[in-house]
Amino acid sequence: MNKVSKVKEFITGTLSGTIVGAFLGAVMIIVGLVLTSTVIGAIIGIPLIIVGAIFMLAGPFSGVFSCFSAIEGKCPYCGDIIKTLKTKKGVNCNSCKQRIIIRNGQYYNIEDAAKL
Ligand SMILES: [Zn+2]
Repeated sequence: MNKVSKVKEFITGTLSGTIVGAFLGAVMIIVGLVLTSTVIGAIIGIPLIIVGAIFMLAGPFSGVFSCFSAIEGKCPYCGDIIKTLKTKKGVNCNSCKQRIIIRNGQYYNIEDAAKL
């Protein structure tokens, strides 16, 4: 197990959910306000503002955006720091070009991943 590298989440699902939710919500509200300035645009604009507001409020409380959560850890081959998205099944190391397998938020080399 000494080749297994601990991976820490440098952005939690909740935090990234808040950021992504707030950003998308803000964009929707701005677009909605612009659209609402025209009468026909208000048909799309008003629901967009409402959805945007829900996004901004719901972000911190939902795991909807947790797929944007990123993890950071050492390459099991060369020890270089690798950052990638939590949802990925694997990643290639930038330094040694070896294939790293991601299981349960941890980095494994191919040999150890096959034993799991
Ligand atoms: Zn490497």
